[in-house]
Amino acid sequence: MELSDAYGRRINYLRLSVTDRCNLRCRYCMPEEGVPILGHGEILTYEELTTIARVAVRLGIEKIRITGGEPLVRKGIIPFLAGLSGIPSLRHLALTTNGLLLDEMAEGLWSAGVQRLNISLDSLRHDTFAAITRGGDLNRVLAGLAAAERAGFRSLKVNMVVMRGINDLEILDFAALTLDRPYAVRFIEFMPTAGEKDWQGYSIPGSELLERISRHYPLRPVDKGEFAGPARDYMITGAAGTIGFITPIFCHFCSDCNRIRITSTGKAKGCLFSDEEFDLKPLLKSGDEAGLEEALRKVVSIKQDRHRITENEAGPTPFEMSKVGG
Ligand code: SAM
Ligand code: SF4
Repeated sequence: MELSDAYGRRINYLRLSVTDRCNLRCRYCMPEEGVPILGHGEILTYEELTTIARVAVRLGIEKIRITGGEPLVRKGIIPFLAGLSGIPSLRHLALTTNGLLLDEMAEGLWSAGVQRLNISLDSLRHDTFAAITRGGDLNRVLAGLAAAERAGFRSLKVNMVVMRGINDLEILDFAALTLDRPYAVRFIEFMPTAGEKDWQGYSIPGSELLERISRHYPLRPVDKGEFAGPARDYMITGAAGTIGFITPIFCHFCSDCNRIRITSTGKAKGCLFSDEEFDLKPLLKSGDEAGLEEALRKVVSIKQDRHRITENEAGPTPFEMSKVGG
C-alpha cells in the first residue's frame, strides 16, 4: 500500500519519539531548568508505540526513525527496538541519539536490528561542547561513535547544528572528519524553537557554509540514494565520507518531504512546524486500529505544501524540539 498527500508526495517515513526526557540540555532544544517531567501515564507505552508502527507500516510507511528527547535513556528501549525491527515490510529502522550512552549500548542496538544511527555532535572542542549541551562530556560521545563503528554500524551520520559565533568556526574540522572516516557529516541550519529569542542571529544559510567549505576543499555533489533524507550531499575529493547540508530555513525542502511525526505523548503531526495535531491516545486506549489508520491518513492528507518559517519569521508556534523529536 502507498500513502500520498494532497500534493502528490509519497509519505513513507515516520519519526517516532519515545520520550521527552534527556540526559543533556542543549541550549537550542531545551530550557536549562524547569522542564516539566511527564508522568509515565502520559508517555505512550512500548506496546502503544509498536501498535502505531505496525499500523503505519500497513499503510505504507517503510522507514521509522526513533527519536526523543534522548531515546537511549528510556528503560527497555532495546527489546522494544528488536520488536519493531521484526515488523514485516518495515525496510529501515534508524535512531537519532546524542551518543552519550552509545559506548555501552551500540552493540545491543545493532543486535536489535537498528540499521542506521544519527549522532548529534555540535563541537569537537570540549569547552564548546559542554557549553552548547550545558554540561555534556565530549569524550563520551567520541567513545560512542567508536563503539558504534565497532558494533557494525556503517555510514554513521554526524549531525552538527551550526550556530554563528558559537561553533561555526569548526565547520572545516567537521568536514575534515570525513577525509578518513566513512561518516556522513551533515550541517543543519539552526531552527527557531521555544528557547531562543535571537535565532536569526545564529542561523547560517547552508549556501554560506557550502561556500566557506568549498574555499578549502574541492567538493563534488553526490547522488542521493533512496531514503537519503533532506540533505544535499557532497564529497571532498578522495574522502572516505560525505558532507551534507540540511537547510530547513533558507532553502526549505518541503517539496520532497516524505515524513510524518508522532510525539512521545501520542500526537501525530504532518510537519515539525505545524500546530495541527491528532491525539492518537484515545484510539490506542480503546484498541481502535481502524480509527488509528484513519487518523494517520488524515495527518497525511492535511500536510501543507510547505512550512511558513523563513529567516524573517519564526512562525506561529515556537516549540521545544525535544517534545517533537527534531
Ligand atoms: N536527543 C537526540 C539527539 O540529540 O540526537 C534526539 C532528539 S533531538 C531533538 C533530534 C535532532 O534535533 C538533533 O540532531 C538536534 O541537534 C536537532 N535539533 C534540536 N533543536 C534544534 C534546533 N533548534 N535547530 C536545529 N536542529 C535542532
Ligand atoms: Fe537532548 Fe537531543 Fe535536545 Fe540535546 S538535542 S537536549 S540531546 S533531545
